[in-house]
Amino acid sequence: MAIVRMTRVTKCVLQYHGRKEELAPVFDYFKSCANEAIRIGVEKSLTSRYKLHCHLYHKLRSDSNFHNKYVFGALECAASKLKLYKRTIRKKPSAKIPYISRNHLILNNESYKIEGDTIRIPTEAGKYLFIKLTRYVLETIRDAKLGNLVLTDDKLIISYSLTVTEQKVSRFIGMDRNLDNVTTCDTQGRCNVHDLSEASRIINTYDRVKSRFRSNDARIKKKIFQKYGKLQKNRVHNILHCTSKKIVFQNSGIIMEDLKGIRKLYRKGNGQGKKYRRKMNSWSFYELQRQVEYKARWLGLPVEYVRAEGTSSKCAVCGSRLVPEEHRKMFCPTCKSIVDRDVNAAHNILLRGTRVVPDGVACEAVMTEPGRKEPVICRVDAAKSGVGIYLPIT
Ligand SMILES: [Zn+2]
Repeated sequence: MAIVRMTRVTKCVLQYHGRKEELAPVFDYFKSCANEAIRIGVEKSLTSRYKLHCHLYHKLRSDSNFHNKYVFGALECAASKLKLYKRTIRKKPSAKIPYISRNHLILNNESYKIEGDTIRIPTEAGKYLFIKLTRYVLETIRDAKLGNLVLTDDKLIISYSLTVTEQKVSRFIGMDRNLDNVTTCDTQGRCNVHDLSEASRIINTYDRVKSRFRSNDARIKKKIFQKYGKLQKNRVHNILHCTSKKIVFQNSGIIMEDLKGIRKLYRKGNGQGKKYRRKMNSWSFYELQRQVEYKARWLGLPVEYVRAEGTSSKCAVCGSRLVPEEHRKMFCPTCKSIVDRDVNAAHNILLRGTRVVPDGVACEAVMTEPGRKEPVICRVDAAKSGVGIYLPIT
């Protein structure tokens, strides 16, 4: 009997609201509650979310200073800050105790209510604030299960989730992320290069603009830089959204390399130039991964991660070390062929994530053992022969 895997997937929808003055006391109230939770959390060294809820939920709820509907959200907020704090003090013991100063409010799905086309948000005991939802938001969340609500100075964000059945796919895509492009290679041997050089150009331009800024006033500098940061983010994310949509809509399982910890390679003191480090550290590889993953999961497509070491330096056919050539080309001394660096890497990722089950004649002998003249069949390159079936490694 086939196992049907069900997963719960979450997305968010946002709308802008024009309420400012009415919300100021609400935000202050929420911040004081969250900061109190952080204070007690640090004092009693409660860092995990579970412990924080166990120790403080009933205590803060019974405290008349705090609105009981805000306690859950405040603890969630405090837990995330404390988690970050725990990680920071390991490296820097003199780090400041976190403090929440940003205006926002988190409510769980039991604390707010949607009645018709308006959302009811509790402000004080027995008092509510009503915000009209747009048609788009109502349409989006109609059949979904509602999650937390986040309210900021100008935005209202509702998270919603669905249970999806994981699709049985016969095709997989290996995805290699680079600074200027994303290369995909699928199990039928088709390769696609999605250009991302426009994103790099935008980041460079904003960097140049910011570097020419001359003012000694830190407050003005902060404001202006925030503005440019927002513009840059919007423009880059738009390009990434277009690319991730194209990748996901091929309706195949997705295999990506696990790039966790890559920033460690470009730290100060690693012997690299400032400009190079800046370029590599502004590479938004994670944002693309996040977008591809949530979009794929929403459609019930499987997403797998493989180890990243050696994907671009080893030959996808024979596994020997490649020699770099000009224009992102690589030469394989064993196969005596020149391959494209990105296509080879995408192919390697695909092979790592899939287990090749040869279903026909082994048509490609792919490895020569040292000391033997005859090549030995070690692996069958089914993507090239077209006779293999790809199965994901589980
Ligand atoms: Zn080779």
